Amino acid sequence: MRIILFGPPGVGKGTQAKLLVEEFHSAHISTGDLLREAMKKQTPLGLKAQQYMESGNLVPDDVVIGLIGEALKPEEAQQNFILDGFPRTLPQAKALDALLEKLNIRLDGVVSLHVDNEEIVRRLDQRRLCSTCGRIYTLGCIGAEATTCANCGGQLYQREDDKPGPVRRRLEVYQQQTKPLIDYYRETERLVSIDGTHEIGYVHKQLLDYLYRDKVHV
Ligand code: AMP
Repeated sequence: MRIILFGPPGVGKGTQAKLLVEEFHSAHISTGDLLREAMKKQTPLGLKAQQYMESGNLVPDDVVIGLIGEALKPEEAQQNFILDGFPRTLPQAKALDALLEKLNIRLDGVVSLHVDNEEIVRRLDQRRLCSTCGRIYTLGCIGAEATTCANCGGQLYQREDDKPGPVRRRLEVYQQQTKPLIDYYRETERLVSIDGTHEIGYVHKQLLDYLYRDKVHV
């Protein structure tokens, strides 16, 4: 499977990508995760990305395009991948098309997940991550007082960019720079749109229905 998952922040891309990875054993390529990893390690790239990320703005195209080029170098990843959070701009989408053409690879699907903005602000305000294993939690499910990960005991934290100010900026950025990609992929008939408001298992099932039904390369 070679899939692009896109949609606004908090729509459930990361959660759905992890479920698809279990199903298809694909490489999960999340530019957000790669950038956070670089930030954690304080690499030059991470230090460059930090100011953009924490304020809810996009990291420059050349940086993320470079990351994707690296992530898609292993042959195994080229055969079977889920792109989560990339592309996010038109130049990124065009650079990806050029890379895929060079590698002689075709996409199996482009999935756009959508949820309305109020629900997104509510979800991200409630989202907590484990600093050790990266598992994602919702305060509504684990209780507002929870501070440790049920999986590994690591410390839970709220992403700086999940706080209300940066979230509003991320939604604006999505609207202005990423949403136009819906038309880009629709024109090439590579798009399916799925409502991410529903329960996680239901959204996953819809994704699988689409991917299994639509096995023909696009
Ligand atoms: P995410 O984890 O996908 O929500 O991404 C978190 C942040 O990382 C975004 O708000 C951007 O600052 C940055 N980022 C992730 N992917 C990209 C991308 N494809 N292009 C530019 N910036 C990105």
